Amino acid sequence: MAYRSTNPFTNTVEKSFDELSDQQLQAKLQAAQVCFDTTWRDQSFAQRKAILKRAAALMRERQHALAALATLEMGKLISQSAGEVALSAAIIDYYADHAEAFLAPEPLKTDKGQAVVESSPLGVLFGVEPWNYPYYQVARFAAPNLMAGNVVMVKHASNVPQCALAFEQLMHDAGLPAGGYTNLFVSKDQVAAIIDDERVRGVALTGSEAAGAVVASRASQNLKKSTLELGGSDAFIVLEDADMARAVKQAVSGRMGNAGQACTASKRFIVLDAVADDFLEKFKAAMAQFKPGDPMDERSTLAPLSSAEALDKLEQQVQTAVQHGARLVLGGQRVTGMQTGAKGNFMQPTILTDIGENNPMFSEEFFGPVALFFRVPDEAAAVALANNSPFGLGGSVFTQDVERGRRVARLIETGMVFVNSAAVSLPDLPFGGIKNSGYGRELSAAGIQEFVNKKLIRVA
Ligand code: NAP
Repeated sequence: MAYRSTNPFTNTVEKSFDELSDQQLQAKLQAAQVCFDTTWRDQSFAQRKAILKRAAALMRERQHALAALATLEMGKLISQSAGEVALSAAIIDYYADHAEAFLAPEPLKTDKGQAVVESSPLGVLFGVEPWNYPYYQVARFAAPNLMAGNVVMVKHASNVPQCALAFEQLMHDAGLPAGGYTNLFVSKDQVAAIIDDERVRGVALTGSEAAGAVVASRASQNLKKSTLELGGSDAFIVLEDADMARAVKQAVSGRMGNAGQACTASKRFIVLDAVADDFLEKFKAAMAQFKPGDPMDERSTLAPLSSAEALDKLEQQVQTAVQHGARLVLGGQRVTGMQTGAKGNFMQPTILTDIGENNPMFSEEFFGPVALFFRVPDEAAAVALANNSPFGLGGSVFTQDVERGRRVARLIETGMVFVNSAAVSLPDLPFGGIKNSGYGRELSAAGIQEFVNKKLIRVA
């Protein structure tokens, strides 16, 4: 694995970084363990809070520079990069403010003796993180676990090394002791060695199913707890009584945010027959409006995909879908011969219809601006199709009858359902999935409970 910043707009390599030697890795593991043993586990919540509050404040101070780095390395529109930095700072603040209450001792009602459950940290945790939200993904792993008294080590995606270093620097500048937060430029073999190392007490991965299976099976061979935040193919159900203008607006933002490279992006648009033509016509018109351009330029609306390989894969998926009977109603190709002057990894906003159950692309995640459109006769068929997926991450339901929305939401087999909006992520909302989308939760009160020892202390 080479750690390299390649600008997705120009496809030029901006900077490369060496991987750690095994010796350097051992020293970092040792420093993390020493930090846990001698400092961090025994800090009070107030001491930890002071450091994390400083980190959040520094993140806001550095918002512009951090945003520019994310756009440089993974191509996100600059306004969306700035939004990600703000959300990441909010997550850090949220855990700084609430960790003590979330982890407060819980006295138990018991007939015999006195019993209480206390939460204590586990030790060194290892996170493997993806490039698509290079700060937010790390913040939602690091902030709760640091506040819980654990120390964290992070192997970030190999295409966002400068974002990875900037986050580490932030924690250092906020006053976290050495070894509290450690960025690791490591190979896949070293990832395995880290999981095997007895100092490491838990592993969290956000990424693809393939990486999740490798990392989680290694963790389980070592009898270590893991959490997995994997891919999704979220359904976006439009019922016949939906507010159509709102549904179309949310459909566009749900599919096109982050150039479509989000795990909880709306990917399968399932629309009741009665309103399907109306929805498709308006959705198509809105999707056709996107203009590719330099993601650093506030006027651009379509960002490049993160890498040339990502574009190749997405274009290939569309071609395969079409070869097996799907129909293109919009786009379908990479953007070439750019009238706009852009030259990066751009995919046209694309809508595919007529994707049969036997189409090999029926069950795949499309990680870019490609929408799959399905027409169904009624609500029951919509729910059945939504659940006909190997994934179970999120989903949306549009109806003006909120009670109906809640009822349909309960029938959808995923970790999160949003009534009348595309997926949103906020510090206080639990995030995670079921089925091939993984297990465990990040964010909210739930996210801080994953890597703590819930210890029973009973006095006879
Ligand atoms: P990926 O290839 O799985 O990469 C994610 C991380 O895993 C990277 O740090 C990567 O390192 C590492 N990795 C990959 N293969 C590995 C292996 N065999 N051993 C050890 N580490 C390995 O994922 P991606 O394609 O870049 O990211 C997009 C995927 O993540 C999508 O499926 C998306 O839906 C999912 N995602 C899920 C969530 C969620 O919360 N559920 C959030 C965001 C993204 P290298 O970069 O060095 O290969």
